[in-house]
Amino acid sequence: MKILSCQEPGKLEYGTAPDPIPEEGNVIIKVSNIGVCGTDLHAYEGTQPYFTYPRILGHEIAGELVHTNGSKGFNAGDAVTLVPYFSCGHCIACRSGAFNCCVSIKVFGVHVDGGMQEYISVPAHSLVNGEGLSLQELALVEPLAIGAHAVQKAGIFPGDTAVVCGAGAIGLGIMEMARLSGARIIAIDVNEQRLEFCRNKLAVPYTIHTGRTDAVDAVRDITNGDMSSVVFDATGNLRAIENGLQYLAHSGKYILVGLQKQAFSFSHPEFHKRETTLMSSRNALRKDFEEVITAIRNKKIDPASFITHTVSFGEAADSFGSWLKPESGVIKPMIRFD
Ligand SMILES: [Zn+2]
Ligand SMILES: [Zn+2]
Repeated sequence: MKILSCQEPGKLEYGTAPDPIPEEGNVIIKVSNIGVCGTDLHAYEGTQPYFTYPRILGHEIAGELVHTNGSKGFNAGDAVTLVPYFSCGHCIACRSGAFNCCVSIKVFGVHVDGGMQEYISVPAHSLVNGEGLSLQELALVEPLAIGAHAVQKAGIFPGDTAVVCGAGAIGLGIMEMARLSGARIIAIDVNEQRLEFCRNKLAVPYTIHTGRTDAVDAVRDITNGDMSSVVFDATGNLRAIENGLQYLAHSGKYILVGLQKQAFSFSHPEFHKRETTLMSSRNALRKDFEEVITAIRNKKIDPASFITHTVSFGEAADSFGSWLKPESGVIKPMIRFD
């Protein structure tokens, strides 16, 4: 079968590997669609802290189940995606059900080889049934589940205001899931094209361009001086993370979804006076995947609009470089096996 491997930063190479054979506890999927996200692009760039090379990238997968290995509730030919965070099942996090932040987590396409290959062998317990969704939609469930998980952590009440910093694919997923929880969304970004997308495609009522407007004043105006009860960071940018606290209302929650490499700092008086709840949100849980699938099936969200670029598997290697450039207008690239 064909594979695409990131040999070292900046170098993606096509190759071949033997087709996987069914092992105990694993199923085999014929990959049809692979969503590309910031993690993959940063791995290619060499700026993602958790990567070793060579590595086959790809964790946003949809495909057809070809070998069920006796898994209950699944049939050969089913359209499936997977929860790509493989957990140990017995560490302190796993014991409390927080498989998303398992102490020895192995993320498919990050710590172990991922989905940029024709067939993959994955643990049967990672399978998610995608009934009613197209394969393209199924490949978008994982990034949206990240948003669903963050929104669940925020505990949004209808009528809350939610500032979402960063209007990339993860930020857009947070906006969509927060909207379904009844929040009024304020999107903040430095890229006008992305803010336009928020307004036109997601009907986000408020968008703020940080380069052009004083964002703190703008949030104050929109909220009649209250500021925002919830702030999400989906930029993974140090300055944005440090600035984000200023948008937060007293008694509010600040949830960091994006990841960067350095230490960050806040003014302690600013942090204290709000009685800020600060948390990170990592990966997602199966129930987040299921929530997203239900929302797509019930037409509450239409993530297909996030796809800005579609290429065949053979074109993928040459396309990575251009997806790193903001002027390409990239939100979600999708690789398809024809
Ligand atoms: Zn991703
Ligand atoms: Zn664990």
